[in-house]
Amino acid sequence: MIRFKDVSKEYTTKDGALTAVSDVNIEVEDGEIFGIVGYSGAGKSTLVRMLDGLEAPTKGVIEIDGTDIAKLYGHKLRVQRQKIGMIFQHFNLLWSRTVIDNIALPLEIAKVPKAKRLARAKELVKLVGLEGREHSYPSELSGGQKQRVGIARALANEPTILISDEATSALDPDTTNEVLDLLLKINKQMNLTVLLITHEMHAIAKICEKVAVMDSGQVVESGTVFDVFRHP
Ligand code: ADP
Ligand code: ADP
Repeated sequence: MIRFKDVSKEYTTKDGALTAVSDVNIEVEDGEIFGIVGYSGAGKSTLVRMLDGLEAPTKGVIEIDGTDIAKLYGHKLRVQRQKIGMIFQHFNLLWSRTVIDNIALPLEIAKVPKAKRLARAKELVKLVGLEGREHSYPSELSGGQKQRVGIARALANEPTILISDEATSALDPDTTNEVLDLLLKINKQMNLTVLLITHEMHAIAKICEKVAVMDSGQVVESGTVFDVFRHP
């Protein structure tokens, strides 16, 4: 379970203090698809960076399975971070590596032996429907295919949480729907918790069970997608 308890984040800028996140309370159950929606500047990326241990909250606590993320250092922080897979708007693939080698990269970093990481990468190729493209380079793929590589790579270390940070924002509507269907399939098949961060309401409405709506650093509404979107 992921829990944000009274979390605030202030940045010090040349114009003074800037509150990026203000008293946020969010609880995400294991296996849930949870949406965080809001316009640019609402504080979504700041929440993600704090959840990934890249930044510490100024106030409040963020827990994953009861562990306070801000208290983890060194090896324990690295182990925790392997439990979180991330996908991004611009895919963040390595252009000089083939599909299979991009997918196997996290396993290489984790020093998994070659035969084992190739076997795992092949399974992931199948899972995301990229059979036949293993030896293509990212520049030879469509946007949707690149994001499938991103998803497979995010799953390589068998995370328990997958964070999608505007991962469909650069894709056309049909491709967006394909990627969302894939996230839903993976969520069901692997019992993975999915955090869908986006400014696109329809993406949330399509696959999320619960949603938090953010504005100016605050959660202004939260609950089931049915309840929140029923009252426009
Ligand atoms: P979103 O992801 O919803 O677009 P962000 O979390 O990126 O929102 O930003 C929230 C607010 O915090 C914005 O006003 C942004 O300018 C500010 N902000 C984000 N990161 C930093 C930073 N490193 N230093 C100063 N201000 C920041
Ligand atoms: P978009 O998603 O806007 O269409 P691209 O798919 O072209 O963007 O590129 C995604 C990201 O990869 C961008 O941040 C871009 O700077 C980077 N990139 C593009 N081409 C290369 C390359 N040949 N080598 C390394 N990085 C690249």
